[in-house]
Amino acid sequence: MFWRCCRYTGRMNADPPINADGLLDSSRTATLAVAEDGTVLAARGGYGGFVGIDLAATVGTNVFSRLTPSDADELATYFIENAGETDETVALPVPFRVGIRDDGGRSHLVDVIASGCSRPSGERYWIVVLVPVALSASVTRSLDLEMAGADRQSVKRMLCEELELDNVDYESRWLMIDFTEAGRPTVVHARDDEADLAAIVLDDVRAGWRPWHGVRVGECAPVDPAFFPPRMDAAMLERGWRRAIVAPVHVRGRLAAVLLLVGRVPESYPLDVVKRNMAVRTQGLVKATTLLLERWAEQDQLRSAATSDALTGLGNSRALTAALAESRRGSAVLFIDIDHFKSVNDHYGHQIGDAVLVTLAERIVAACRECDVVTRFGGDEFVVVLDGADEAEATTIGWRIVEAASSPLDIDGGPERISVSVGLSARRDVDALDALDAADRAMLEAKRTGRSRLATLVPN
Ligand code: GH3
Ligand code: MG
Repeated sequence: MFWRCCRYTGRMNADPPINADGLLDSSRTATLAVAEDGTVLAARGGYGGFVGIDLAATVGTNVFSRLTPSDADELATYFIENAGETDETVALPVPFRVGIRDDGGRSHLVDVIASGCSRPSGERYWIVVLVPVALSASVTRSLDLEMAGADRQSVKRMLCEELELDNVDYESRWLMIDFTEAGRPTVVHARDDEADLAAIVLDDVRAGWRPWHGVRVGECAPVDPAFFPPRMDAAMLERGWRRAIVAPVHVRGRLAAVLLLVGRVPESYPLDVVKRNMAVRTQGLVKATTLLLERWAEQDQLRSAATSDALTGLGNSRALTAALAESRRGSAVLFIDIDHFKSVNDHYGHQIGDAVLVTLAERIVAACRECDVVTRFGGDEFVVVLDGADEAEATTIGWRIVEAASSPLDIDGGPERISVSVGLSARRDVDALDALDAADRAMLEAKRTGRSRLATLVPN
């Protein structure tokens, strides 16, 4: 009854309907070709199954057998109101949302994206794309992948597959402008086809393009094509794409990513309608992205807490073990120990002792190269791994530390100055723990021979 309501009254055709392989191959969603009386003529797609429906088995059945009567009525009204009186190809505004029953009788909310088409004979049929709403396949799969320990990049790529559409009327792809990678933005995309566009967007963002400015947390906004930067504009034009929507993702009050939906919708379809219809989907994706980025930030924080020294912020002995394991065989190692530090604590108190440790940590870092790993080994001992440094270079750095440590301190109520003894294990073809041991013995040698100095030991 519904299809008859829709004006496109006509006979159902039992022939395999359309040459529509390309059209129907929308892998993350279900795409149906539906005759005017609701009979499924062809069905494709899904990703590891489509919400519990065996799509192949739906061919020949009626789509209304999957809907509640009230949903069927609403869907009918939607078609009547939007399909128009034309026999031309027509795209209906998306998404229209209905509950669809799977093979087990459970209901799933899906967005219905429908285009009416005519065959040369004049018979009408509909191409209907069904996109699961609540937890779309890609979002669910992203979370699954994350739980299974997949690398973060793969999980992000999977997120970008949300609402990946590719049919006659609509094309859409998500790009994720990611600010969580070591301070430099990157752009994640799901398909290799979008690598060029992603690279251009990344350049534009680095050059200061900020289409998400003014968009509030939890909201999305269309980007006016007039404000596409020139290269992006050209890359979009090449694809026939003129639409973009941005949605910022905030984690702990800071911008962590921006989701950018790019693609094409029929020209007749106004931007504000796109925005309204996309808002719910986008919010779902923003939520999933926020959840994942928050989880990763937490993991990173725990990891860094486990490997850093709370007082000085330097790496701790665990970080040292890792740095030694990663360093090249025979790297130079410096072992630094404060001279008579117990008496600093005894005279000035533990708190002042702590301030001395913090100041010394800063001075050691300043005396080293940027690539050196400076750690607090424990107590008043610091260890520096000088990856790739030869004996001369390591000696220079070691003495620089001795000098920096003994320059006057500016700590209220503290000692005027301190000194350190430094042991150097110079490069030799020994493994890391032997080098550490040699540096420790060299440090004791420096203590024995007068303190405030460097002693070198070349390990065998
Ligand atoms: P030496 O010249 O032989 O190294 O003499 P020393 O007094 O420095 O002896 P040692 O290196 O064995 O002593 C280290 C002292 O560092 C012992 C402890 O009181 C102090 N210490 C260890 N951890 C901390 C800390 O976190 N804060 C403070 N204030 N003192 C610490
Ligand atoms: Mg000491």
